[in-house]
Amino acid sequence: PDVPRSAVPLRAAVAALPAYVPGARPAQGAKLWKLSSNENPYPPLPSVLEAITRAAEETNRYPDMYATELVEALAAHAGVPAEQVVVGNGSVAVLGHVLQAVVEHGDEVVFPWRSFEAYPIVVAVAGGAAVTVPVAADGRLDLPAMAAAVTPRTRVVMVCTPNNPTGPVVHADELETFLAAVPHDVLVIVDEAYLEFVRDPQAPDGVDLLRRHPNVVLLRTLSKAYGLAGLRVGYAVAEPRLAAGIRAVSTPFGVNHVAQRAALASLEPQAQDELRQRVDALVVERGRVVAALREQGWDLPETHANFVWFPLGDATLDRAAEATAAGVLVRPFAGDGLRVTIGEVEANDAFLAVAAGWRSLAG
Ligand code: PMP
Repeated sequence: PDVPRSAVPLRAAVAALPAYVPGARPAQGAKLWKLSSNENPYPPLPSVLEAITRAAEETNRYPDMYATELVEALAAHAGVPAEQVVVGNGSVAVLGHVLQAVVEHGDEVVFPWRSFEAYPIVVAVAGGAAVTVPVAADGRLDLPAMAAAVTPRTRVVMVCTPNNPTGPVVHADELETFLAAVPHDVLVIVDEAYLEFVRDPQAPDGVDLLRRHPNVVLLRTLSKAYGLAGLRVGYAVAEPRLAAGIRAVSTPFGVNHVAQRAALASLEPQAQDELRQRVDALVVERGRVVAALREQGWDLPETHANFVWFPLGDATLDRAAEATAAGVLVRPFAGDGLRVTIGEVEANDAFLAVAAGWRSLAG
């Protein structure tokens, strides 16, 4: 209480920021399945743990400032030259850097809503003016409405596919029509955080898109399919001049040494194979969960990510509290809906029992 108060004003945009509420953490000792943050339920691969241990012994030294080896490995993985890849401390940090590189004060940034809850925050921090376009009732992005929201003051449009938290992907043909309608000096950020879980043949090929539309930036992460959420590695793929601009505003040494080595180990061919098998298993598990929910009578949006969306409106917070009481931590968005991650089989079974209880309440 006796901490002296400063007279220094915060930037108005910063004082007005909504809080980025992370997924709740289970209390110590509480037995809770954590299905609230779209994490990968598998522990690190033995080869990745080994790389982490080795790297830990070198942490008195600074990391490679621009993560050269990692950038080369990610570029090879994406099928682009290294000059087109920029890494950062999670893709949310990279997104912030992308916006800082292109947004002048007051520029409009168009994004869907509801979508990833960090969007309004990073836009405000970059000095942009948020223009939100409602997601359709079926959880799909309304790309025609997003194109129509572009004005001469628009600098950036963000497309989240699959959309967090609703789950559907945009289709390649819709995105082509959208890109044809948007001026070429407007940056289109395609956030592909859940790319590896997509099984829709109509989904766009981001790198192909970028080759033909150099105003596109792809945003990717090792937090989800690669299971490295705790180490914070994300990257952007962009046209070289834009990539250089993003790199220029990036935090120096933004990806720590342990994270760089763990990410590199995850990109080894053998590790990639093992990680792909885990993703395949999670996709199968997603199919099982969605089928079981439909069997229970739920009409849910199609999901191509590692989560399911329940548009529960005003019942959202009550349902989330019931899930917690039943030992399952889910992510509520008050007044809107609940997002539930596909986790371990036992966790998903525990959640399916909770969802069945909700049905009987509704009936
Ligand atoms: N984009 C989307 C759509 C996300 O859902 C998330 C994580 N919730 C991120 C970006 C950021 O992920 P990270 O910072 O862990 O790379």
